[in-house]
Order: sequence, then structure tokens, then C-alpha cells
Amino acid sequence: MKAGVLALQGDFREHARVFAEAGATPVEVRLPADLDAVDCLAIPGGESTTIGKLARAYDLVEPIRERSRAGMPILGTCAGMIVLAREVEGGEALFGLMDISVRRNAYGRQVESFEADLDVRGIDHRVRGVFIRAPWIERIGDGVEVLAEFEDRPVVLEQGNLLVTSFHPELVGETGLHRYLLRKA
Ligand code: GLN
Repeated sequence: MKAGVLALQGDFREHARVFAEAGATPVEVRLPADLDAVDCLAIPGGESTTIGKLARAYDLVEPIRERSRAGMPILGTCAGMIVLAREVEGGEALFGLMDISVRRNAYGRQVESFEADLDVRGIDHRVRGVFIRAPWIERIGDGVEVLAEFEDRPVVLEQGNLLVTSFHPELVGETGLHRYLLRKA
């Protein structure tokens, strides 16, 4: 299984490492042609505005939307969740694929980062996540399922082929969500 990682900015190397540990072959995606070879895609944490600028500059927006509409499983973590959202409060949507509205940096500043262990539906162990200037969800569309909550707010969501987390599982070598994505591919 070839697992793509959008490698424009952010912690894409950590995602590649987790995919490899989960038994897939990681492939860095920087150009539209790189997408042809992959069965699924992770969009890393980082800075959503920078990822957006680079994705536009490299003409990746439409090709990723098309693959998503054709059913390719996509995991977005933190900034990756922001770029997949249909609405970004006070900002601009990029891929606009998941029917959610998000608010950036809502869990506080860098120094207020924290880790948590979460019960995620469909995953048989507690999932460890790192929250760093994490976004939170303001609105969820009808077709979106909540797989985990933290302090009464959704933090893992699924809509068909799309899976998003407000935190980073990849920074602590947590493989549960990547394995979940690979099972969808
Ligand atoms: N705050 C960042 C953004 O708005 C996301 C932070 C992260 O990915 N850890 O893009």
C-alpha cells in the first residue's frame, strides 16, 4: 500500500514514519503527478496558511479535490484538518472538503500545548495526541461523525473517506489513526 504524505510544510516526515511503522510505503507528495501513485494521503500539522499558499503554487488543490471525490482516504491532522474544512472562521477554506467549520488556534498558544489520551471509536486502544495551537470545531454537518471528544468538543471526525484530528498523533508515534486510514484504502 502506497501512503502519500503532503510534503509542502509541517511535520510530514513524522507522518511518513508512522505510515512505515503501520506497514505501508510512504510517498512524499509535492507535485500533482506524485498523487497518481498513492492509495491514500495524510495532510500534516504545521501552518495552514503556508500549506495553502504552497498547495496553490504547486497546483495541487484541484487534483487533491478530485482524488477525494473519487474516494481516496485522506487524514488531516491539526493544520491538515483546517485545510480540509469547508469553513474557517475569520479565514479562507482551502480544499473545502469536509462539512465542518473550524476556529484556528482555539486551544491557546504554543506554551499552552498539552497531550491527552483519547477513546476513539473504532480504535482498540487509547489514542495519544499532542495539541499544539490546535483548532476546534464550531459546526458539524449532517454527514459528519464524531469518533472522539475531548472536554465535550469533537476532536476526531469522519465523513466518508475523510478523517481529521485537531491534534497530532504523529508526533508521539501513535499509529492507530494511520492504521484506521489504511483500512479504508
Ligand atoms: N495553528 C496552526 C494553523 O492555524 C495549526 C497548528 C498545528 O498544526 N499544530 O495552521
